[in-house]
Amino acid sequence: MSRIRGIEVRLPKDVINNRKNGLDIVKNKKEDLTAEETDQQQIKELVSKLPKLDKIFELHRKIGVGTFSSVYLGSLRQHHGLAEAERRWFAIKHLVPNTHPARVEHELRCLQEMGGQDNIIGVELCLRHVDTIVFVMPYIPHRKFSEYVSSMDAQELRDYLKALFVALKRVHSFGVIHRDVKPSNFLYDRENKRYLLVDFGLAQRISPPPPAVPPPPPPHPPPAHANSNIRKRLRDEEQSPPAAKRVALDLTVRGRGEAAREGEHAARGRGERREPALQLPAAPPPAVNSEVKRPPCACAGVGAVCAACAGRAGARACRAGTGGFRPPEVLLKYPHQGPAVDMWAAGVVLASVLSARYPFFRAADDAGALAELADLLGSAPLQRAAAKLGRRLLMSRERRGLCMRKLCARLRNAPPPAPRAPPAAAPAPRAAPARACAHCRLPAAQCLCPDERVPADQFTAGVSVAGFPDSAFALLARLLEPDPAARISAAAALAHPFITGTDL
Ligand code: ADP
Ligand code: MG
Repeated sequence: MSRIRGIEVRLPKDVINNRKNGLDIVKNKKEDLTAEETDQQQIKELVSKLPKLDKIFELHRKIGVGTFSSVYLGSLRQHHGLAEAERRWFAIKHLVPNTHPARVEHELRCLQEMGGQDNIIGVELCLRHVDTIVFVMPYIPHRKFSEYVSSMDAQELRDYLKALFVALKRVHSFGVIHRDVKPSNFLYDRENKRYLLVDFGLAQRISPPPPAVPPPPPPHPPPAHANSNIRKRLRDEEQSPPAAKRVALDLTVRGRGEAAREGEHAARGRGERREPALQLPAAPPPAVNSEVKRPPCACAGVGAVCAACAGRAGARACRAGTGGFRPPEVLLKYPHQGPAVDMWAAGVVLASVLSARYPFFRAADDAGALAELADLLGSAPLQRAAAKLGRRLLMSRERRGLCMRKLCARLRNAPPPAPRAPPAAAPAPRAAPARACAHCRLPAAQCLCPDERVPADQFTAGVSVAGFPDSAFALLARLLEPDPAARISAAAALAHPFITGTDL
């Protein structure tokens, strides 16, 4: 009997009976156990390695598994005789044994320094014996995001986002980027309207701002074949390369070679898979080096990276986080990332609710993710943002982007939004809305083209789209802003009319 990763197989009854009758070997192979039995065995192993934990807590069952931990539901032994409602419940997070000590320390520091208020998880206790480490945290009952993503109404969405921005505002005020904002790390107790931002395992101290803005590349890069093959989707909890985690941890001032060697070693130890590096041209050299002769780029039209570009140093930047939630600056390997990384991820959460689709982005790799963003936001805004980051983004063809209002209405089977009122200065053309769109040639009711007359971040009070106020889409445009410098901050998002409810 075999167990395919993640798929538990129940033993046939006759085998169990045989075993009860002593006809078979003792049930000792992990692959013969059901999920529940495996969890109980893991609990036994954990408490045997950490007897102190067993003295204080009863561990009941596994309630979560992440990339770097298993989380168990626990209660105080001294509360054993009490009714369930009267006990205090805890989430006991057991970190994977080969987690780097600095990573553990950093996560713990984040929890201690900023946790316990503003919807941020706190820590009650940390226990360690050799390489067995647990964090004991307050437990919050919650459901899977996929269970409520399509049933949230505007007020519930407003409350949820507000709670998330309150948490992020606090995190960012400590000079920290969470880096892994996503529904499974923002726990929502729907019944009691409680929220908790958890998992500071990838949190990063904000690095100082870039010394100087590199000169932007030419405004119209030559067309090239973009490799946007969509492969099998990676796991939700995508692992970031160890090098990225080290940056996130702000560990030491060792040389890059030494750090990289250790990273590879650690990755092997953890059985991690290294993702193939995305080959992006590094930022153009500064003017002082311009006399160094480089062969000109010949990528255009050949569907491959030319020798000149292949010879350039690969860009390196922190890309810790989860696939589908990474902003353009991470995908483009911009080294000076800031809190805007978290705000983009909050935008992806908002897009999921407005469209009732989760996951919202599904690309398997960074190049595919950039292609998805170009499809949604348009290639020109993405290329402009890339240029501001000193990156040149080549696309096989120009994409106009999509109107999120129309897209969400379509995905929710709602009527298409009414044409938006252009600014007073530009009188509305008296086009008949029933006619085909000049760009996509589809009837107006099916067209998803962006309305270029009205900026997406402006809204009309009193108008709703797919059951949500127009202002929610205006906020979405401010969160999914490709240029991190122009993206809305958590503090500003809290003052946005959709969040304050002053959009009516
Ligand atoms: P990882 O770093 O491995 O992703 P997390 O801290 O995100 O670990 O925890 C993994 C899962 O465990 C969460 O997605 C959640 O389902 C559950 N969990 C974590 N903390 C709590 C908590 N305080 N209360 C309830 N469940 C929790
Ligand atoms: Mg997590």
